[in-house]
Amino acid sequence: MSLINENFMKLEDSYLFSTIAKKVAKYTQENPNKKIIKLGIGDVTKPIVPACLEAMHKAVDEIGTAQGFKGYGPEQGYEFLRKAIVENDYKARGVEIAEDEVFVSDGAKCDCGNIVDIFSSSNKVAITDPVYPVYLDTNIMCGREIVYLPVTEENGFIPELPKEKVDMIYLCFPNNPTGTVLNKEELKKWVDYAKENKAIILYDCAYEAFITEENVPHSIYEVDGALDVAIEFKSYSKTAGFTGVRCAYVIVPKRLKGYTKSGEEISLNKLWNRRTCTKFNGVSYIVQRAAEATYKEDGKKQIKENIKAYLENAKIIKEGLEEAGFTVYGGVNSPYVWLKVPEKMTSWEFFDKLLEEVNIVGTPGSGFGAHGEGYFRLTAFGTKENTIEAMERIKNWK
Ligand SMILES: *Cc1c(COP(=O)(O)O)cnc(C)c1O
Repeated sequence: MSLINENFMKLEDSYLFSTIAKKVAKYTQENPNKKIIKLGIGDVTKPIVPACLEAMHKAVDEIGTAQGFKGYGPEQGYEFLRKAIVENDYKARGVEIAEDEVFVSDGAKCDCGNIVDIFSSSNKVAITDPVYPVYLDTNIMCGREIVYLPVTEENGFIPELPKEKVDMIYLCFPNNPTGTVLNKEELKKWVDYAKENKAIILYDCAYEAFITEENVPHSIYEVDGALDVAIEFKSYSKTAGFTGVRCAYVIVPKRLKGYTKSGEEISLNKLWNRRTCTKFNGVSYIVQRAAEATYKEDGKKQIKENIKAYLENAKIIKEGLEEAGFTVYGGVNSPYVWLKVPEKMTSWEFFDKLLEEVNIVGTPGSGFGAHGEGYFRLTAFGTKENTIEAMERIKNWK
């Protein structure tokens, strides 16, 4: 009899995006002449930039030749990409990362989920609330105990250090869904906590490319001591529109240590390398060439333009909502704007009102966790025209 992993029974079903889709479909059917503007999109919308396309085309032609053919590549990623990552994402910011500390993958979602393999299920895990659901669900699947760290207006969206001792901590900045950030001093407190408690920080900086302010670290390794306590996840998805192309990477510094029950220090880099080689056969050559192109001069420039346009939309949303009298967070170092719904209204009640009265779709904050109740997420991934129109509608809304 094949017994199942009963931890799966503890997962809450996620109806967030299917419920939104159903509500929108119903409204559209009943009101076919209304123009609905979707600002709930959690996916980039701008096409892949020419520099990456060119690199992919070239790689496609290359593998069709006898000399250029590529079979299985290195599980950890091709050297050309790992080198480009080390140079551009780290050395340029004053951080020394070695090439064998970089593991190229097919997505930060999988990485955030897969990393749990190398840790004991008896570890206690701290996770912010509201949160990107992947951290939470993958740890529930392993049966780990979760400690929730509320991030709300009351603490300025800065999670407080847990009162009890935890072993693993997930942090995501710029944050999805709140769009807020931590500065270096705030992040340093977490690094110090991790050091004191021999804990590991799992740092997701998928939205790093949207940072506009000084003193907001692009990588946790810009904080002193982080190389001893943090694993970092980064993705080309939001930076370069690779949500469909698929490419990301994990940094596991060689100085990072985990412990056996008897207290022996074990290199996490070694464990992750072993896990990667056992369960993964690398990202396709074509895709890795596309990722490499994001670091070349024209690629960098083209990507910057796209991000600038998204950030302009975020500014339009933030300022439009403020003008309409809403309290708003995020939207400065992030494509996400997190607004407070009017008092005595739930996130879902606000969703319905927004859809029915001004025909705008967003995402109820309660869908990201209990402490998201009373908040609402709008995203900057729509077109500029629609974003402007949506804000006009909200400003004229009674
Ligand atoms: C979109 C997103 C990612 C990226 O995931 P990929 O699998 O690389 O597409 C990672 N973390 C957060 C918080 C995200 O919102």
